[in-house]
Amino acid sequence: MKLTLNQARDWLERSAKVLAENQQLLTELDAAIGDADHGINMDRGFRKILMALAAATPEDIGSLFKSAGMALIGSVGGAAGPLYGTLFLRMAAEADGKAELAEKDVVAMFRRGLQGLMERGQAGPGAKTMVDAWVPAVEALETACADGYGLAEAVHRMAQAAKSGMIATVPLQATKGRASYLGERSIGHQDPGATSSYLILQALDDVLEGD
Ligand code: ADP
Ligand code: MG
Repeated sequence: MKLTLNQARDWLERSAKVLAENQQLLTELDAAIGDADHGINMDRGFRKILMALAAATPEDIGSLFKSAGMALIGSVGGAAGPLYGTLFLRMAAEADGKAELAEKDVVAMFRRGLQGLMERGQAGPGAKTMVDAWVPAVEALETACADGYGLAEAVHRMAQAAKSGMIATVPLQATKGRASYLGERSIGHQDPGATSSYLILQALDDVLEGD
């Protein structure tokens, strides 16, 4: 099975919907260890993506994700905007000119996106950030594809791994981002960015579930 342009577009649209529905949750999580704007930031950014997609119809997955990345960087003031923006721009570079992606191309795309995210934020695993959802997620995707699972099952495993990674941020002490200012007081709270990352990957799982 391949990831098509339509599915990639559905993914962004579904992410926008899920992030809007979970705006309050993300804001509450950020209120505990940040500045209570992550819900607003993600909602604003993904609304902007929908506006960009309505204004111009991207004809390949690379242009689609480039447009998404630029919308996020251009509209979100918080740390999450440039971080997610870089993720999508790097994914776009890998998907440049492609109207569909085979499993191995999807793996390469997410690998490259994650690399960009980590370069940009300088956070490794365990710093209590969105990286703690993305690292196990991309590893699970890669392993599932290597084991011969189809894209839908591989992405399902990816979303489940993101969920476990998100939950595993609770006992961590933040060493990057705004939450790190709290020191030990950041322990015992779920990271907002890891939570939005899980929601976005669960949206991709939901899009592919019907196939
Ligand atoms: P801000 O922290 O500027 O208010 P947001 O609230 O939108 O921005 O996003 C906060 C989230 O961004 C955190 O929960 C964390 O997951 C992520 N984050 C912050 N700094 C980094 C970093 N250096 N690397 C990766 N992710 C980070
Ligand atoms: Mg914040």
